[in-house]
Amino acid sequence: MSAVDGGSGDDGDGGPAVRRLDEWDGAELVALAEEYGTPLYVVDLDRVEENCGRLRSAFPDADVRYAAKAHTGRPVLRTVREAGLDAECASAGEVERAFGAGFPGDRIQYTAVNPPGEDLDLVVDRWREHPGLTVTVGAEATVERLRERGFDGRLCVRANPGVGAGHHEKVSTGANAKFGIPIERVPDLAESWAAEFDLVGVHAHAGSGISGEDLSAHRELVRRMGELARDVDSRVGALEFVDVGGGFGVPYRSDEPPLDLEAVADATREALGSVDATLAVEPGRYVVADAGVLLTRVNTVKEARDATVVGVDAGMTTLARPAMYDAYHDVRSLTAPDDAETIEATVAGPICESADVLCEHRPIPRPERGDILAVGNAGAYGYEMSSTYNSRPRPAEVARSGTTIRLARRRETLTDLTALEQ
Ligand SMILES: *Cc1c(COP(=O)(O)O)cnc(C)c1O
Repeated sequence: MSAVDGGSGDDGDGGPAVRRLDEWDGAELVALAEEYGTPLYVVDLDRVEENCGRLRSAFPDADVRYAAKAHTGRPVLRTVREAGLDAECASAGEVERAFGAGFPGDRIQYTAVNPPGEDLDLVVDRWREHPGLTVTVGAEATVERLRERGFDGRLCVRANPGVGAGHHEKVSTGANAKFGIPIERVPDLAESWAAEFDLVGVHAHAGSGISGEDLSAHRELVRRMGELARDVDSRVGALEFVDVGGGFGVPYRSDEPPLDLEAVADATREALGSVDATLAVEPGRYVVADAGVLLTRVNTVKEARDATVVGVDAGMTTLARPAMYDAYHDVRSLTAPDDAETIEATVAGPICESADVLCEHRPIPRPERGDILAVGNAGAYGYEMSSTYNSRPRPAEVARSGTTIRLARRRETLTDLTALEQ
């Protein structure tokens, strides 16, 4: 079987361009909520595989690297590895998870962002056993700190390209001074580092927001990276890769069209121009977003002055995106009868914060106590951003694949919460 066999999708290898919340089997989800309790994340590994397949077909000559921070669950990482993607890791912890899921060192790229010393210690240790591991640096001090640890391996330089993109200012990185070395300084530094390290690539990531409507920021970033690669090439010889980051958008609203991956791929190749290096891309969200849903139970329904407030057991500690980015997630009742009246609901969690809402003024069938709601596109940055604020244990997660369903992460307990106390 080919590693990129997309499974049962009807559009060839990679399945349909998007999976909407409505297309999940409601009865199966309700059964999972009953069996495993709520709040519960459900991740569909077949859909992860399809998403990987579509990326591989759209970028057949490129290295596709999964930005692991979107979802680091072991079954997801394994699926991504089997589908032929590499791993892009933002911390030593993610590097460990990638190794744990069976990625070989030469398919792991560690992107250092103001790395704590312990991260560098661990990554350099790992590199000694696995010299194929690549380290991406975004500051001169990081190179110094790697040198102090005896690292002289595969180095990639992260440029700050001066163009950003994002669905929210908090996820735009390309022009944010925190990330990367100003692009105009990269050629000189790359030239000096090439003598000492195995200089393999240049990298930039604009943020999370490549959308079909406007590819201009993406094009501009890629154009600048092509220019940079040619400049570095003329000084130190060919690079192995030029990595233009992730940020492939997904339609969070049910009426939004899916991203036209082929159009993004065409625009990328055209803007890059001719370079003697392999193109690399680093999608995170695109791989997992529509492969996950969050299930939550209704505990209270209250008529407030200007809204019906539906109190559920998932909140900002379960899914942070609405509170953090004002993100929109579809909400579907899995249990309301067909003839239920539609109301405008505010769905709120159990946390003592006003920001603790999953949606506001949302038309949904009038919920009753005990109903199960599904929150769509929860596979990316969902479980990963969960916290224990308000001493609320993190949810469980089940992974489904074909007809197999298994508990991927057990629910945290109150005992887990106090386990670190001395
Ligand atoms: C987060 C991140 C990505 C992935 O971003 P998505 O929007 O999830 O595709 C890629 N590269 C780097 C360096 C990142 O930090």
